[in-house]
Amino acid sequence: DRPPRFDRKFVHLGDGDGAPSSVIRVMQWNILAQALGEGLDNFVMCPLEALSWSRRKYLIVEEVLTYRPHIVCMQEVDHYYDTLQPVLAGLGYSSHFCPKPWSPCLGVEGNNGPDGCALFYDESRFELLDSVNIRLSAMRIPTNQVAIVTTLRCRITGKCVCVAVTHLKARSGWEWLRSTQGSDLLWHLQNVVQKQPGDPAADIPLLICGDFNAVPNEEVYRRFATSSFGLDSAYKKLSRDGLTEPEYTTWKIRPTGECCSTLDYIWYTKDTLRVDAVLDMPTEEEIGPNRLPSFSYPSDHLSLVCDFSFKEEE
Ligand code: NDP
Ligand code: CA
Repeated sequence: DRPPRFDRKFVHLGDGDGAPSSVIRVMQWNILAQALGEGLDNFVMCPLEALSWSRRKYLIVEEVLTYRPHIVCMQEVDHYYDTLQPVLAGLGYSSHFCPKPWSPCLGVEGNNGPDGCALFYDESRFELLDSVNIRLSAMRIPTNQVAIVTTLRCRITGKCVCVAVTHLKARSGWEWLRSTQGSDLLWHLQNVVQKQPGDPAADIPLLICGDFNAVPNEEVYRRFATSSFGLDSAYKKLSRDGLTEPEYTTWKIRPTGECCSTLDYIWYTKDTLRVDAVLDMPTEEEIGPNRLPSFSYPSDHLSLVCDFSFKEEE
């Protein structure tokens, strides 16, 4: 009796001559913390019933099963130990979790523990080389935002890839903090990726997935777009000119009004990785007048899903 799922299609790019067997499918998704959705978010057009964990957990797992990504990066995970870790382990994913040090979930009655970032990878496709949990700092002062940085080796190509997941500070007025947190993450990544300083050939390809809580004209976005890693944002590939971010990655209605904006990104190193396909966004009509979350979709943020392949060295 629930409305149909969004019928999203992959937009395939380029000549498609990359060996399809070695495509790496990546999902970025802020799944909406259960405690925040029911307790603090105030999604005024979403019935409470649609927010129950007993409904949402199936839709979340179904989203992963629909696209079967090799790497899943999530934010606002507050049901890791009791649900997502065991369920996704049963589907062949190994994972890491990094809770926020002072999660706002803890202030909600009946909460299920702190929310945080989680990174899942297909164990049959990737071998774990290293994973670190990072608390992001701003001017050397530790903040309440975190990241996971995981280095994996592809079992098909033998190549390594470094994957990071983060969730930067929310709300307006905190643009400077997001920018500083972004710089701190880039600094940490420099140490992981550039094993041999000054030897760019040794650099490991990089994927950074996150809810940056920043629109594309914010400073933290510019910092990533112009970093020395040569990063690009994969979802720009959906646009006609290839230069424009989607119109929205989150769309919700709070008492203060409607919020439709682009806050979520998948960054990749353009010298070493190629985007082969991008999952398109549901239309305004599909999302519906009450926006997100809803009985058809469990989060206020949409999942981003892309296929990457390693570029051959010239
Ligand atoms: P952030 O400002 O980064 O936001 C935390 C969460 O709130 C995010 O997941 C964000 O979602 C969501 N959010 C953003 N805008 C709104 C909004 N308008 N209404 C409701 N939710 C929103 O928080 P911090 O990590 O800095 O956490 C600190 C906050 O948590 C403080 O306000 C602190 O007082 C509170 N806290 C309270 C505790 C208690 O016991 N009472 C315990 C721990 C923390 P998204 O990213 O999707 O926008
Ligand atoms: Ca949220």
